[in-house]
Amino acid sequence: MILTFVKPEVAEVMFDVIKNNYGNPSSVHTFGQEVKPIIDKARNQVAQLINAKPNEIYFTGSGTEADNWAIKGAAFALKDKGNHIITSKIEHHAVLHTCEYLEKHHGFDVTYLDVDDKGFISLQELADSIRPETILITIMYANNEIGTVEPIKEIAEIAKANKILFHTDAVQALGNIKIDVKELEIDMMSVSGHKLYAPKGVGALYIRTGVKIDNLLHGGAQERKKRPGTENTAGIAAFGKACELAEANLDNHIQRVKTLRDRLIKGIVDKIPHTIVTGDLEKRLPTIASFCFRFIEGESLLLSCDMVGIAGSSGSACTSGELDPSHVLMSIGLTHEIAHGSLRLSLSDFTTEEEIDYVIEKLPEIVQRLRNMSPLYEAFLKGESK
Ligand code: PLP
Repeated sequence: MILTFVKPEVAEVMFDVIKNNYGNPSSVHTFGQEVKPIIDKARNQVAQLINAKPNEIYFTGSGTEADNWAIKGAAFALKDKGNHIITSKIEHHAVLHTCEYLEKHHGFDVTYLDVDDKGFISLQELADSIRPETILITIMYANNEIGTVEPIKEIAEIAKANKILFHTDAVQALGNIKIDVKELEIDMMSVSGHKLYAPKGVGALYIRTGVKIDNLLHGGAQERKKRPGTENTAGIAAFGKACELAEANLDNHIQRVKTLRDRLIKGIVDKIPHTIVTGDLEKRLPTIASFCFRFIEGESLLLSCDMVGIAGSSGSACTSGELDPSHVLMSIGLTHEIAHGSLRLSLSDFTTEEEIDYVIEKLPEIVQRLRNMSPLYEAFLKGESK
C-alpha cells in the first residue's frame, strides 16, 4: 500500500501513443511528423505546471540525468570562470555523487552545507560560503527522506545577488508543492515523471532562457540540439498528462494528502513511545511521513511491515539495502543507533483513510514485537542506557 501508481488517465495516454503513434519524431515522413505535436503538447503541459515557457523544458531519461546534466553542464560551461560549487549534505545521490565526481576527476571544489536538526540549510552559511570562483549553487527543493522543504526563494535571491547559477532538484516537490520558476527566479530545475503518477524513465530539466550549459550527451539534434537520443514519446506524453492532472488538482491533492499525513504522524507518535518524527513538521512535503523508532533495526522493521502489506522504506529507496545509515539522517544529527530505526512512509492520491488507520493499528504491534527482541531495548528497560 501507499505507493505511487501510474494514474489510469496517464496510462491511457501512454498506451494510445504506443499503439497509434509509432513514428520517430525526427523522421520526415507523415508517421514521424504526427508524433511531434504529441511531444510539443507534453512540453506545454510540463511548462504550465511550473510557469515556465515550453522552450525552457528539455526532456531527459530521468531525474538523475537532469541533475547530472544541470551540474556537469554548468560546471563545464563555466570552468573558466571558477571551480567552486555549493550544495548541501542531504542532497539525493544524483547530486552528491555528481559533485564528488567533479571534485575527483575535474578539479572542482565543492562545499557541502550542513543542515540543522530539521534538515534546513542556513542561509547565512550559504552566503558565507560564496567565493569569487563560485559558479553554481545546487540545493534540493524538498528532501526525499524527511520531506523538509528548503527556503528556495531566499536561496535563489542569494544566488542572483551574487550572479551565481542556481539549480534545484525538485524531483520530490513537483506536483506536491506549487512551483513557479519565474517568481522564484530559478535558473535550472530537475523533475521526474514517476513522482507524480507518470511512468518511470522520463524526466526533464528546466533551463531558464539565457542560461547556457554544456550538453551532457552528444549525438543527434533532438531537444533543440541539447539532449540527443530518440525521444521516449509515450513516456513524454504520459509525463505531460500527469503534469496537466497535477495542475488541475494541485490544491485539493495537497490538502487531502496533508490531512492524511498528519493523521498518520499523530497516530504513530501517540501510539508508539520513543518515536522521533524526522524533518520539519510545517515546511514539509504533504507526501512524506518519516520516523525513527528507537531500539530497533530499520531492516527488520521493513520486512515485518512488508509481511502485513505496508510498503515503507528506510532511508531512501536508493540506499535501502546498504548497511550504512542514511546520510540524510546522519546529517540532521541522529546517532547511528537511532538512524537505524528509520521508516519512511510515502502518501499519494491513492492513499485512503482506511490505509492510514491500518498502519496506525499495525505498526505499534510490529515495533513492540521487535523491541521485545532487541538487546538495546532490554538495556534501556534495565536503566543501563538512556
Ligand atoms: N532527486 C530526488 C530528490 C529523488 O527523490 C530522486 C528519486 O527518487 C531522484 C533525484 C532521481 O530521480 P529518478 O529516479 O527519476 O532518476
